[in-house]
Amino acid sequence: MSNDCPFCGIVAGEIPGRIVHETDDVTAFLDANPLAPGHTLVVPNDHHERLDDLPEKLAREVFAVLHQLTPAVEAAADADGSNVAFNNGSAAGQEVPHLHGHIIPRFDDDGGAPIHVVAGDRPELTEDDLDVIAEDIRNAR
Ligand code: AMP
Ligand code: ZN
Repeated sequence: MSNDCPFCGIVAGEIPGRIVHETDDVTAFLDANPLAPGHTLVVPNDHHERLDDLPEKLAREVFAVLHQLTPAVEAAADADGSNVAFNNGSAAGQEVPHLHGHIIPRFDDDGGAPIHVVAGDRPELTEDDLDVIAEDIRNAR
């Protein structure tokens, strides 16, 4: 547990949270500043900052809860779809340094945008560039 982490505080019951799912490993609660009704955060109970910090077993638990909760969130919010995403690291917009998956209900004509808009300017990459990047990823696994 990290003392100044709000999500550790919610998991420990020291900070109020609207908890919607709780196990020994994973907790889910409503976002306090929701982008849509039902906006839910799914966190590992232990303090880990980024996806790559998560032990594989815990990663499986987090993704299992996202898989289980997403249809429940959509049903409760009467949503037409959802964006399910992580801001992984400060460069990606992560503000709370305790890994959390967002489930953001989406509605037809809600004025929002697809997840493609979150990145910066699109790079111009050749087929060769793409081949090199794919190879680098395969080698880095
Ligand atoms: P991120 O930019 O991915 O780190 O998002 C952090 C999210 O946590 C934001 O959507 C905040 O509204 C939400 N948030 C911050 N503090 C709390 C809290 N105490 N309870 C619930 N949600 C919170
Ligand atoms: Zn924490």
